[in-house]
Amino acid sequence: MNKGKKLYEGKAKIIYETKEKGLVIQHFKDDATAFNNLKKANVEGKGVLNNRISEHILTNLNQCGIKTHLVKRLNMREQLIKHAEIFPIEFIVRNIATGSLSKRLGIADGTVFETPLLEYCYKNDDLGDPVVSKEHIFAFGWAKKDEIDLIDKTTHRINDLLQGMFRGVGIKLVDFKLEYGKVWEKDKQEIVLADEISPDTCRLWDIKSERKLDKDRFRKDLGNIIQAYQEVARRLGIMPEETNISEVKFGKPKSVDIKKK
Ligand code: UDP
Repeated sequence: MNKGKKLYEGKAKIIYETKEKGLVIQHFKDDATAFNNLKKANVEGKGVLNNRISEHILTNLNQCGIKTHLVKRLNMREQLIKHAEIFPIEFIVRNIATGSLSKRLGIADGTVFETPLLEYCYKNDDLGDPVVSKEHIFAFGWAKKDEIDLIDKTTHRINDLLQGMFRGVGIKLVDFKLEYGKVWEKDKQEIVLADEISPDTCRLWDIKSERKLDKDRFRKDLGNIIQAYQEVARRLGIMPEETNISEVKFGKPKSVDIKKK
């Protein structure tokens, strides 16, 4: 797959053009950022792990009927994806209070919610991705009512599926962020899950020890970031036991029939 010109560069990923209509390449960088870009570092191997973990999760979700932008993983750092028009909203799901929610509302860190909490944030770095209501979303035309209804339903289903997937490998899914976009399928538009699902976008705690296995290791200077991401990959069964990321040789990417997606 020939990579064309760079279309967009974000904090952790780059999007490249391809010759195929409607398809682009998503490249995972090793860059880590936090606190709206105030903290930055290069974490060697992070992009490779996130590429692999996100491919695994999105493929599993797709097998459960969730439509995603993923076509196939191309190599260690790249995926072929459908070019989606991304809604300017981050969909945050919280099962346990922590992070910005605890700070903002004074809810004790670790409080388990009876039902998952869904929050919407307006994707705008200059404004620090502020929390918004559905009324803001409709008033400013960021998405329509029927689109949000579908996304809300899909997001709760993804939460159920992910909680099960992680619980099975001894991990608590504390919270996570999703993004969605619109793609053209023949002559009709379809909403798909986009971006990535990885330890960069989820909070994952070991069930027994509550050890953090996610980007909070970077945010809070806890060290061993890569080891934690590797641990997630290992538990999900996508990295052989006792391997070091520098020695990892991932298997051939699985090709997925685009028509079925
Ligand atoms: N999150 C993300 N990208 C963002 C903001 C949040 O992936 O731009 C994820 C974050 O990793 C966590 C969840 O969404 O799993 C909730 O994040 P929170 O609002 O607590 O963010 P904080 O300000 O603490 O990073």
